[in-house]
Amino acid sequence: MSDRRNLLDLEGWSAADITAMLDLAVHLREQHQTNGKLDLLHGQSVITLFYENSTRTRVSFELAAKALGADVANMTATGSSVEKGESLLDTIKTLDAMGPSVIVMRHHASGAAETAAGWCRAAMVNAGDGWHAHPTQALLDALTLREQWGDFAGKRIVIVGDIQHSRVARSNCWSLTALGAEVILCGPPTLLPATFAAAYPDRAVSVEYDLSHALERANAVMVLRLQKERMDGGFLPSLREYRRDYGLTPERLAPYPDLPVLHPGPMNEGIEIDPAIAHGATSRIERQVANGVAVRMAVLAWAAGAVDLPQGQEVTYGKK
Ligand code: ASP
Repeated sequence: MSDRRNLLDLEGWSAADITAMLDLAVHLREQHQTNGKLDLLHGQSVITLFYENSTRTRVSFELAAKALGADVANMTATGSSVEKGESLLDTIKTLDAMGPSVIVMRHHASGAAETAAGWCRAAMVNAGDGWHAHPTQALLDALTLREQWGDFAGKRIVIVGDIQHSRVARSNCWSLTALGAEVILCGPPTLLPATFAAAYPDRAVSVEYDLSHALERANAVMVLRLQKERMDGGFLPSLREYRRDYGLTPERLAPYPDLPVLHPGPMNEGIEIDPAIAHGATSRIERQVANGVAVRMAVLAWAAGAVDLPQGQEVTYGKK
């Protein structure tokens, strides 16, 4: 069996690495649909450790782990010894002493997953750390877009909304450009500094403040939630103005009736996206959720060392 591996972010992942992971996700989903529960992680355990709220990510990791035959324990900061003041170091060491193959962690601090990875023998899978990275979200977004586009070359995606606070936008900037697509970031200047794209040198990432201009060039649009919990006020004049300038409404999308729409969830319906779009014919949002389970099966199987990536690609960094 191979070594355990961490998934902390997607910086440094090549098109071949990402494609191999998506292929593995599709393969495992087919296997699971045909054969029921798999035994790749039989006798192994996975712990999910969430310091921030989550619906999709936490449940899909749990379902994915169970589909692979693992035992799963879920822990949230609320109701645990974290509320008694236990440090991240002690929590990680305590959980690691129970011998899990993988710890899946979400934390409000950027860099927490990388720090914690250094403290445990289990593989560490980052389920979102502060503003920094949300690699499995970006992988499921890539799978959803691949189903839509077939090929990434020459394709453009507009990511609109609260870019500044978004780990989803940051991870997608790495993965989608690695795959050959172009990313156009769009939002008000307070939530999208002009220098943002400079963090992705030599990548096809650009900034556009006018949503209508951005959409003219788009092959897909991803809407982001306004992350009110990460704002300390002063970012927006009013939600009404935000909706007027950056909300995805039927009127704004009318010229592009076939444009696929993605959103990582949870949605503020009526603010960044109208219900008619979120639940309309071009919405791929439920497909993203479904793909999340498949992608997390692949990531958990790979992180635990139960499988190598198909085609022989090996992401070497992050190896335990
Ligand atoms: N669910 C995503 C995340 O955890 C997006 C969001 O919360 O807006 O980053």
